[in-house]
Amino acid sequence: MKRLEELEKRLREECPGLELRKNEPMSKHTSFRVGGPAALMAQPKTPGEAGDLLRVCQEQKITPFFMGNGSNLLVSDQGYNGLVISTVRLDRLERSENFIVAGSGVLLSKLANFAAQEGLSGLEWAAGIPGTVGGAVYMNAGAYGGEAVQVLDFVNYFGEDVGSFRVMDGKLFLAFGTPSEKNGILNVNYREVENSTFSYRHSYFCDKELFVTMAGFRLTRGDPGAIKARMAELSAQRKAKQPLEYPSAGSTFKRPAPLPDGTPVYAAALIDQCGCKGLAVGGAQVSEKHAGFIVNRGGATCADILALVEEVKKRVLDQTGVALELEVKTLGV
Ligand SMILES: Cc1cc2nc3c(=O)[nH]c(=O)nc-3n(C[C@H](O)[C@H](O)[C@H](O)COP(=O)(O)OP(=O)(O)OC[C@H]3O[C@@H](n4cnc5c(N)ncnc54)[C@H](O)[C@@H]3O)c2cc1C
Repeated sequence: MKRLEELEKRLREECPGLELRKNEPMSKHTSFRVGGPAALMAQPKTPGEAGDLLRVCQEQKITPFFMGNGSNLLVSDQGYNGLVISTVRLDRLERSENFIVAGSGVLLSKLANFAAQEGLSGLEWAAGIPGTVGGAVYMNAGAYGGEAVQVLDFVNYFGEDVGSFRVMDGKLFLAFGTPSEKNGILNVNYREVENSTFSYRHSYFCDKELFVTMAGFRLTRGDPGAIKARMAELSAQRKAKQPLEYPSAGSTFKRPAPLPDGTPVYAAALIDQCGCKGLAVGGAQVSEKHAGFIVNRGGATCADILALVEEVKKRVLDQTGVALELEVKTLGV
């Protein structure tokens, strides 16, 4: 605790404009509406402020937890005895030609609506996902055949260093500048990053715990009316199939590996087949509408949700031999 007090003191002195809260209830920041307090929560407003914040964290040897809109996050009932950095105020959003540049805290719904208004196509799938740009890059979020990596152009990050990745053919290339010998103008060079390929709900950023501060999206020109119509169609499909009336974190489990002949396997179908639809522990329930979702029917605790997760995993493993894996990320658990 002493280290956190020290960190707080330095942050108040060295980052005077920084929004810093103590004992912030995480249930206010997660779509499950579950979670005890974070000892400290910072909400930087600019990448510069985020940089100062991270420098102090590095000097104090404190590793922060980064979060966006908390729509894929389950936080312990005891909370988190550390620093949470929330990106929600990193909300820059700009268009340049066929590109959109967005701060990591921009909501995907806002990003997709902005793209539609500007007549830029490629983000229609993202409109109904309640996460942020940073969360979508980290998770390689996707829906209805679309995925973050398909439209990513670049990602700015903070880690042990500060830098930028270009995304080409689904792989990350570290972008670095060298002055040209001829005229001194900076040339941008790229070096492929090892193990950089994005995969299903997984990115390089998960492995390296890098902080995504901004991303660029490469889109194609389209008719705003047609783009909005496609978004409305996908939103209607979501409403019809998903239990959006209850707090949740979306799909609880990852899609399992396909069968050897390539046939896809869906977690929701397995859970349903094993008779888990409607199964409840305390306030947590396997949705009766969509077995892939665990919902908070009211007053659910993290302990309820985790106990239900374990029961579902056990039944599915016993009956089908498939080991389900959590898609939802956990904190303090
Ligand atoms: C009703 C509902 C429907 C959903 N539908 C879909 C869907 O169709 N497809 C889909 O893919 N997901 C879906 N989700 C899950 C979720 O919205 C996505 O995973 C989303 O990308 C998470 O973004 P977030 O900002 O909320 O991230 P958070 O939940 O805040 O964080 C998730 C993870 O990302 C990390 N993270 C967040 N921001 C950053 C950052 N800037 N830098 C580094 N790490 C970061 C966190 O540390 C954490 O590990 C759904 C969720 C709900 C509640």
